[in-house]
Amino acid sequence: MRVASAPDFGLFAPEDAAARAIQRVRVLLPLPVPEPFDYRAPVSMGLSPGDHVIAPVGAREVLGVVWSVEEGEDAARGADNLKPIIERLPGPPLDETARRFIEWTARYVIAPPGAIMRMVVRTPEALRDPPTVHVYAPAPDFDGKLTEARRRVCDVAAQAPLTPAELARRAGVSPGVVKAMIEQGALIRLARSEDPPFPEPDLSRAGQALSPAQESAAEALKALVRAGGFAAALLDGVTGSGKTEVYLEATAEALGADPSAQVLVLLPEIALTQAVLARFEARFGVSPVEWHSAIKPAMRRRAWREIAAGRARLVVGARSALFLPFANLRLIVIDEEHDPSYKQDEGVAYQARDLAVARAKLGGCAIVLASATPSLETLVNAQSGRYAHVKLPARHGAAVLPDVELIDLRLDPPEKGKWLSPKLAEAAAESLARGEQTLLYMNRRGYAPLTLCRACGHRMQSPETESWLVEHRYSGRLVCHLTGFSMPKPKACPKCLTPDSFVSIGPGVERIHEEVVERFPGARIEIFSSDTAPNGEAVRALIDRMEKGEIDILIGTQIVAKGHNFPMLTLVGVIDADLGLKGGDLRAGERTYQLLSQVAGRAGRAERKGRALIQTYAPDEAVMQALASMDRDGFLAAEARARESVGLPPFGRLAALIVASPSEEQANAAAHELGGAAPNTDGVDVWGPAPAPLSIVRGRHRRRFLVRADRGVDLSAYMAAWMSRVKLTSAVRVQIDIDPYSFL
Ligand code: ADP
Repeated sequence: MRVASAPDFGLFAPEDAAARAIQRVRVLLPLPVPEPFDYRAPVSMGLSPGDHVIAPVGAREVLGVVWSVEEGEDAARGADNLKPIIERLPGPPLDETARRFIEWTARYVIAPPGAIMRMVVRTPEALRDPPTVHVYAPAPDFDGKLTEARRRVCDVAAQAPLTPAELARRAGVSPGVVKAMIEQGALIRLARSEDPPFPEPDLSRAGQALSPAQESAAEALKALVRAGGFAAALLDGVTGSGKTEVYLEATAEALGADPSAQVLVLLPEIALTQAVLARFEARFGVSPVEWHSAIKPAMRRRAWREIAAGRARLVVGARSALFLPFANLRLIVIDEEHDPSYKQDEGVAYQARDLAVARAKLGGCAIVLASATPSLETLVNAQSGRYAHVKLPARHGAAVLPDVELIDLRLDPPEKGKWLSPKLAEAAAESLARGEQTLLYMNRRGYAPLTLCRACGHRMQSPETESWLVEHRYSGRLVCHLTGFSMPKPKACPKCLTPDSFVSIGPGVERIHEEVVERFPGARIEIFSSDTAPNGEAVRALIDRMEKGEIDILIGTQIVAKGHNFPMLTLVGVIDADLGLKGGDLRAGERTYQLLSQVAGRAGRAERKGRALIQTYAPDEAVMQALASMDRDGFLAAEARARESVGLPPFGRLAALIVASPSEEQANAAAHELGGAAPNTDGVDVWGPAPAPLSIVRGRHRRRFLVRADRGVDLSAYMAAWMSRVKLTSAVRVQIDIDPYSFL
């Protein structure tokens, strides 16, 4: 019931006037709460949705985003009890699309919106005005005498004002000289923003002359971009067919649409970024803005601000770049769209490829998914007409696809204690004799995946985790690839105390290296893994050596599978093709096909024909047969039929739910309670609870549910409804993974 208001005598009490001058604002905070919080702010602060503010939360001051604003009498009522907004930050507001994307993602992945916001607004410094540095230019009215050294400083400063240290360095003088010139009045001080805008891409430059097939693919993508609004396309072409050249043309089209148009290119690995950056630079005369985990804080701040302001036009980044606050995004390109690193499993679990499509829909922009081995999800979307299917059938120029041969390890086994079959070893020797390069692919870091005591059978295991320790012989340590735990390799078995009793079981890249060094003394052999190339610089250096022919045999993990062009590489050997097929992963076959055909595709990129030899114990498996005949579409069609018959993705939906607790009893009890609370809904199957394949990780006991739903079911809503039915103790952690890629 409304309380009748006091008669209005045409006079406002001063409190009323004050009350009317108040805004009630709802602010989304980076906290795990379901809703924005209410605050008050004076109208004079002029807040609008999307503005960044500092708001009090308990005793803390927290950065948040204004979600909605109400003014007027209704809004003011009771607002006195609300806490006031402390400050409005000057940074560019989050636009409507970015805000809807946060809401959409939160709902889809079942995370608090604040957790998604934290992925968008990660650099509060970017919201304040950029810091300035002092730079020095020649004083125009200075007419004193200058020594030769001082004149050099003036010449340098005349080209561009610089900091004293930079001036001294470029002029080749000591810092004291510059200091003295400042005191003398020969140089004057200017303030320069530390975050200058990025240079504009030059759209007047021409791209490569395209082949007719490339030309028509580029035209198809450009037409999508020109049409404006949401449109998705699969750019489907074998490795080396020129997909990058083609999406560069689509990028040019999008950037040309208007002066603030932005393009985002996502890449699966920073290892790939450098090569792609160089190609963008060649095409547009400027290097794109980079965004990934290795970017330094100052650059992060600058990039974020410029992207939010719509001034950074071209961005190349890892999956997290999808959460950047683009002001006018016209095109998203997802290169190597099938790559599993687009899926984030830790923290907020999301598949960046799928979220990118959602973002493109929300913002009405075009999206291009590029791959030589598209995911079944994307291929089915293309085949059903939801996405345009743009094909590039052949390698560019004279390059042809390699011949792929299977080596049946049952018939042609390596010698005892060795991993290269005679046939592969011979092929490597021939390639070496011809002065060509060989790539040996072994997707396991370290020396050996298992270390066993010969005396008592004890296996070295990661502490409180169900995972074997992997021996890394070069560093002399045993490492858990799951948790990162490592320890020096003990001299004696910790269980039976027998000294020197360990045997190493199975190979990793270091062990293959040992064998190859022994077989080919004098050859230049290197390992390419995240251990030998831990950062972008090391990756670049290694790729550079390989491109220049300074390496004869490269032994690599999956880091080599991606996008590199090695013109002298003619032989690829896959040491253990069966490795990825083990375990209960829905996509094991698909992933194996993708990885191995990408690896095989490294061979023969230039004018020399390549050859790929794949060692397997299961040559009759469909995936091996498909690799041998390069019958991607036949394999995927069979894979699709198999999944469709049981309603698995992309023909149905999956979600995983993992319950974890330090106490096994608690984990079981929570799993039991959750099991009992699962809503009964048509078209939804709940499997579990069951101990997860990795049933203990970092001392936490893990129980899993797998939920399958028909395509028409809103699985996120189902999972949210399920969660709302249970209240678990805080010692139990529940993680929901919509569309899981890891089944461990
Ligand atoms: P993909 O992305 O499909 O693997 P790329 O675009 O990387 O293929 O092309 C493979 C190689 O062929 C690259 O070195 C690229 O520069 C070259 N290339 C492709 N198309 C052309 C073209 N039209 N003119 C000149 N070089 C090209």
